[in-house]
Amino acid sequence: MLAENGVEVNKPREACGVFGVLAPGSPVAHMSYLGLYALQHRGQESAGIAVSDGHSVTVVKDMGLVSSAFDDRILAALEGEIAIGHTRYSTTGSSSWRASQPFYRDVGNLEFALAHNGNLVNTEDLANEAGMLEGTVTSDSDLVAELIAIELASAEAPEGNELPWALERVLPRLRGGFSFVVMDRDHLIGVRGPEGFWPLCLGRLDNGWVVASESPALDTVGAHFVREIDPGEMVVVDHSGWRSQQPFENPDPKLCVFEFVYFSRPDTVLYGRNVHSSRQRMGEELADQAPVRADLVMPVPESGIPAAQGFARASGIPYRDGLVKNRYIGRTFIAPSQEMRALGVKMKLNPIRHNIEGQRLVVVDDSVVRGTTTRAIVQMLKSSGAAEVHLRISSPPYRWPCFYGMDTGTKSELMAANLTMEEIQEYLGVNSIAYLELDRLVDATGAPGAGFCTACLDGDYPVEIPVSLNSEVVITQKDERDGGFVSAVQMGFQE
Ligand code: SF4
Repeated sequence: MLAENGVEVNKPREACGVFGVLAPGSPVAHMSYLGLYALQHRGQESAGIAVSDGHSVTVVKDMGLVSSAFDDRILAALEGEIAIGHTRYSTTGSSSWRASQPFYRDVGNLEFALAHNGNLVNTEDLANEAGMLEGTVTSDSDLVAELIAIELASAEAPEGNELPWALERVLPRLRGGFSFVVMDRDHLIGVRGPEGFWPLCLGRLDNGWVVASESPALDTVGAHFVREIDPGEMVVVDHSGWRSQQPFENPDPKLCVFEFVYFSRPDTVLYGRNVHSSRQRMGEELADQAPVRADLVMPVPESGIPAAQGFARASGIPYRDGLVKNRYIGRTFIAPSQEMRALGVKMKLNPIRHNIEGQRLVVVDDSVVRGTTTRAIVQMLKSSGAAEVHLRISSPPYRWPCFYGMDTGTKSELMAANLTMEEIQEYLGVNSIAYLELDRLVDATGAPGAGFCTACLDGDYPVEIPVSLNSEVVITQKDERDGGFVSAVQMGFQE
């Protein structure tokens, strides 16, 4: 199933990519464009860039992909030495220009812009603190900008260091998932929340510094990877260099484990490990955990490729392509009905009958959320003559919604939260199914002791979810932990 922007809604969707650069003498707006281009997979709804020339901060943002929001003419007009950029997928707030980022505020003679990856869970408390009325805030990120503006208005703000000072006062009050890039006329600041749910890294240029959600964005602008910004760390860059500050009391690293499974690009470095290699190891673990007699291993392209390679290597079963992905899926396809949605899958993937006919297939993918696309793929393979289809998923079942900045949909939309394993097998129409066990997944990252959030897999939320948000969790948590799921009928699960 495809959304308006051509992204599969059967996959979890990321909440944003952020980028920042301080580089006097370089075309910082163009560099931000390239950086955002490298982070496009993290959000496709809107894109924005803010630039400072030392005298003022200018923001340009628009709906759509980076390539449609900006052109040479716009970028050439954005001259300056510091820039930040944002590419958005909305998990709070509406999908509108008003909610697109970076957010801008001016306070007296100060100006700043802010871009946010993640989702806060205590917005109600924060809005009350800020005296903001319901409906006046477009998103949690807008609220943070407002809180910073309130601090900047204070007479105590130290001249020349106002923005870092204001951030030190606001950040400890935030709960949930957040990585920020923030700038004023003279500073570029990267912040990773105390759990570090969402990645952020630092890079070096000959004439400056870069911060970005993922390391490939550094490569794109010719920056050398320095290191990942630590959970709970604030990196302040100005024209004299960079310094590290610690605004949070007890950082407790909980990187989203799905950055390793699916979200991040395969060429990204997380916890010092290459993501592609980790994904291959997940496939190897899966082959060891759930072996099967079969003739060939094939991936669901492209998300399942590294794990399928690992599965084939560990099992000794030959690896071959069974599905071809159309690389030119546009962003304008809207699926108006169930029949059209099924056609949408065919538009995106087409079977290679020659490789499939009469074969016992191991089909490997990295995750299944709602199951609709997977079911359509299985039907496609069977009608192309597959003798057997054995599904292997290189992550555990999604059973809990994410509140920290990833869109899995609600619990009633999560296939594995509503069906038993037998029901899933029947619903998808496969001969067998296995999901990678959680401890094997964490081992396969190569950094098992580094700290991960696994809440959508085991219901163990590292940051408390306020009652106003978590009714679904509270109602169903006990049933699931005691074994057995609420039946599909009870949950009203619809395909
Ligand atoms: S709940 Fe799941 S998707 Fe959300 S941060 Fe945790 S592991 Fe990632």
